[in-house]
Order: sequence, then structure tokens, then C-alpha cells
Amino acid sequence: MPPAPPHTLTHATAALPPGALPAQPVLVARPELVVCDECDAVHGRIRLARGHVARCRRCGALLGRSHVVTTAGQLAFALAALVFLLIGNLSPLVALDLQGIRISVTLPHAISLTWRIGQPLVAMLATATALVFPAALILLRLYVLGFLVAGQVPPRFRFAMRALRWCTYWSMVEVFMLSALVSMVRSAGVADLVPGVGMFGYAALTLLLTSITASGLHGMWKRGSELGAG
Ligand SMILES: [Zn+2]
Repeated sequence: MPPAPPHTLTHATAALPPGALPAQPVLVARPELVVCDECDAVHGRIRLARGHVARCRRCGALLGRSHVVTTAGQLAFALAALVFLLIGNLSPLVALDLQGIRISVTLPHAISLTWRIGQPLVAMLATATALVFPAALILLRLYVLGFLVAGQVPPRFRFAMRALRWCTYWSMVEVFMLSALVSMVRSAGVADLVPGVGMFGYAALTLLLTSITASGLHGMWKRGSELGAG
């Protein structure tokens, strides 16, 4: 994580002294507080000026970022991400032209082929990081944001938010995109590879997920606590 500009550090208040708060979910019950995802330090919530970020004073992790996207806007982003994920998996990823034979493969087909040629570990990693975790991340965001936009706290809100944080760590569509592009460049002299609609779907998904995860989860925690999550 890149270091924050020095002036942004002034926007995070000092960590509260240990023992000043109960050990159990202070953030959910106390919307005026922010708990660091990385080290659990507790900070007072402040309003950030546009373009500023707040970082933990103990470990430097991102606490929050000022942005103009509302909860409803985040829901729209998540819906768009779901559409691009479906396009990325249902449409051909690449078209391969090898000595006159043209083959189109989707991502699930490519993963299946990878498994069958004796690379199960690669196939499982690709499935997890490019398919399962991005899908879980998007569906969890749709679930939580759908309820929040409707003015309700979703059932099992805290569990869903923790699962969302975990999925964010393991969703690596940008690594997948980079690997796919490198593979295409390296295959240029052997076969004629043409990116398909699925590849463009994943490119758009990469941009969307980067934008979605950059804002962090604290806005959703705050909205949930304002609606009475406890
Ligand atoms: Zn921290």
C-alpha cells in the first residue's frame, strides 16, 4: 500500500487509549468510531475533505477515503460488475488460430483444459482468484448494499462484511488480466491469438473492482451502524 501524503495523516484522530472501549464490535454500535481492519486500533470518525484519505496512526492502513459515490452509486457499480463478470465468463476469452484451425475458448473452458492437461493447481488458482472470489465479492456487495439502499440492515450484517473483507483479499482479476495479456504476447509468434468479448469484459471488470475496493468498506460499516446494526 503506498504511503499516504503527509498532510492526510492529520485527518485521522489519535488512537483511543487501550481499555477505553469494550472489546466487542464497537464500530457497529458506535458510528462515530472507525476500527482499523489491520490492527484493530480505534479512531474517532471525521469528515474528510475531497481527495483526502485517512490512515491508521498505528499501522498506516487505509481507514477511509473521501469519495462522491453514494451507497446507491456503489450498488450500481456492483450491478455493473456482475454484468461484466457474466460477459467475461459466457463470452469467448480468446480466439486461437493455429494453422488454419480456429478455436474460441471461454474462461471456464480454458480452466477445464488446464486441469485436463495435468495442471490442477493452476486451474484451481485461476478458478478461485478470477471466478469464485470476484463472484463472491460482487454478490456480497449486492446483498449488503441492496439492504442498505432500502434503509434496512441486512440479516447477518457483520458476518457478510467480514466475508466481504476476506473476499477482497483473494479477488485478483487484475493478476489474471496481466497473465492473460502476457500469454497473448508470448504466443504471438506461435499462433494467432485474438482477444474475444470475454477479455474485454474482464478488462472492464478489473477497472470496476479496482474502483470498488479502493473506497474501502468503512462507508458501508458506517451506513449499517447508522441504521441500527449492533
Ligand atoms: Zn492499523
